[in-house]
Parts: sequence; structure tokens; C-alpha cells
Amino acid sequence: MASIAFIGLGNMGGPMAANLVRAGHKVIAFDLVEASKNQARSDGATIAESAAAAVKGADTVITMLPAGKHVVSVWTDVVPAMAKGALIIDCSTIDVESAKQAHALAARHGMASVDAPVSGGTGGAKGATLTFMCGGEDKAFSGAKPVLENMGKKIVHCGGAGAGQAAKICNNMILGISMIAVGEAFALAEKLGLSHQALFDVASTSSGQCWSLTTYCPVPGPVPTSPANNGYKPGFASNLMVKDLTLAQDAANAAGAATPLGKHAQEIYKAFDAAGHGGVDFSGIIQHVRSLAGK
Ligand code: NAD
Repeated sequence: MASIAFIGLGNMGGPMAANLVRAGHKVIAFDLVEASKNQARSDGATIAESAAAAVKGADTVITMLPAGKHVVSVWTDVVPAMAKGALIIDCSTIDVESAKQAHALAARHGMASVDAPVSGGTGGAKGATLTFMCGGEDKAFSGAKPVLENMGKKIVHCGGAGAGQAAKICNNMILGISMIAVGEAFALAEKLGLSHQALFDVASTSSGQCWSLTTYCPVPGPVPTSPANNGYKPGFASNLMVKDLTLAQDAANAAGAATPLGKHAQEIYKAFDAAGHGGVDFSGIIQHVRSLAGK
């Protein structure tokens, strides 16, 4: 049994912390929001007075926060308060530069650190089936892996500091683009009088096959578990897709990479978000695609 401090008990962090308790660890948790703290308490965690108080004496510290500025700020606060030899892991999705800054901060205080963003959404967080994409030194990764295994089913070491965040934004850029492509194909099929099921039956076993089609089909019917069958309730909200595509564009600009489709996908999701649909599942982008017809 390890002593684990968990900071950031939102939609993802709350159920992840609960899974650590379930696995038999002592979890000392902190969040700014009272309701999140109460939920964590009823899940079996001990609630600390502050983030710095939570990390005192912990073997491992985990953060699950909205953006890079929150992670750098919380790490600045907690790293000096951590026990000698402890490990700090950030599971938030943040920009590569902030991730590297956070690693440097930990290194200055002699702490091992890992960036470990996730894919799998709130369902994966609840079911402990997340995929973790990790960046950091071999020794830090070896320490993080057994802890992350309590919250996920696939733990991948992608490389050095920031490599986990790089893998996450590259993956989600593929996802954002491919969902628009699948939505466009269904919108075209509708105009051509081809049924959803016929397109699905062909494309899901042909070269158009991809996750956005076969697991997360953006029209109701062919994949009963996809959000399209549930009014496009997230799932993975469109405003989070805007966030990840923006991180990808920032990274592409900083690194000098050309990502023309990633840029266009970012603009399309931004327009959907600006029209008031930020809380709609990202597969609902097909509605936006249909609305462009004739424009
Ligand atoms: P959320 O907004 O529900 O939770 C974030 C939590 O951090 C909140 O409870 C907030 O009060 C807390 N927080 C903010 N600043 C804090 C501070 N200084 N000290 C302590 N707590 C603080 O967000 P979420 O959906 O849980 O997502 C968390 C991260 O995971 C984000 O980076 C997001 O991009 C990423 N992510 C989310 C999903 C998803 O489906 N929700 C999927 C993959 C990755």
C-alpha cells in the first residue's frame, strides 16, 4: 500500500482517486471545490487543508488539473513540500512547454517526475481502463507504472520529458480530423440517398475504417453505444476537442511543423463551440457539417 496525494478531483480526477482507494492505497486528496472534496471523502480519501499539506509524507503525488498554468502553479507550491525520494505525476492534458517547465521544477528539487496524460474519457476514469501516455526518465516511469496500473489498462512510455503530452496531442489531432471526415462522408451519403447502415457496413470493413467510424459512429444506429444514440451527450465534449486541437496548433507553430488539416479541424470545432455547442459531444460535429451545405 502506498501513500498517494491526489490534487484535482474533477470529472476525471475524482473517479481516478476513487480507484486508487479501491486498490488499497492511502489517498490524501485536495481540490478547490467543496462538492468534489465531499465526493472524494465519501469515496474513502482523506481530505487535506491545502495542496501542499496533501503531499507531505506521500510516496507519490498526482495532479489532474484543467491547463498548463494550473499545473505549473500547483507544482511550484507542492514540489518543495514533497518527501525526499517521492515521485510526482501530472495526468492533465497540457501544452508541451508547461509540461517541460514542470519537469524542470521537479528536477531542481531532486524529485522524479512523469507527464502522463490520458485517453479514455470519464468512462475510462470510472472503469480504470484509461490509456496513459508517459514522458520522463526510465526510473521515474518505472516508479509511476504500478501506480497508474490501478487507474488504467495501458501504460506507454513515449520518451523523455513532455513526450506523453506530445503523443496525446498528436493522437487527438488524428481523432478531431477523422471525426470530421466520417461526418462529411455520412452527410454526403445522406444527399446521395445512401443509408447510414449501408455506408457503415461498407466503410467499417474497407479502407475508410477508423475509430471515429467503428467505435464512435456519429449517426445513430450502426454503433448503439456511440453518443449519437444519446442526443450527443458527452463523452468527450467539443470544447475539450477545441482545447486539444489548440494545443496541437501551438506545438506545431512552436516546432515549425505543417499541420494544415489540424488547423482546419481546429477552426471547424471552434465555430461549433462559438455557436453554443461546446458541451455537445465532439461527434456532434456532423450537425455543423450538415449546416454548411449550400453555404
Ligand atoms: P474538471 O474541470 O472536471 O476538473 C479539474 C479540477 O481541478 C476541478 O475540480 C478544479 O476545481 C480543480 N482545480 C483547479 N485548480 C486547482 C488548484 N489550484 N488546486 C486544486 N484543484 C484545482 O476537468 P476534467 O474533465 O477532470 O479534466 C482534467 C484534465 O484531464 C484536463 O486537463 C482535461 O483536458 C483532461 N482530460 C479530460 C477528459 C474528459 O473526458 N473530461 C479526457 C481526457 C483528458
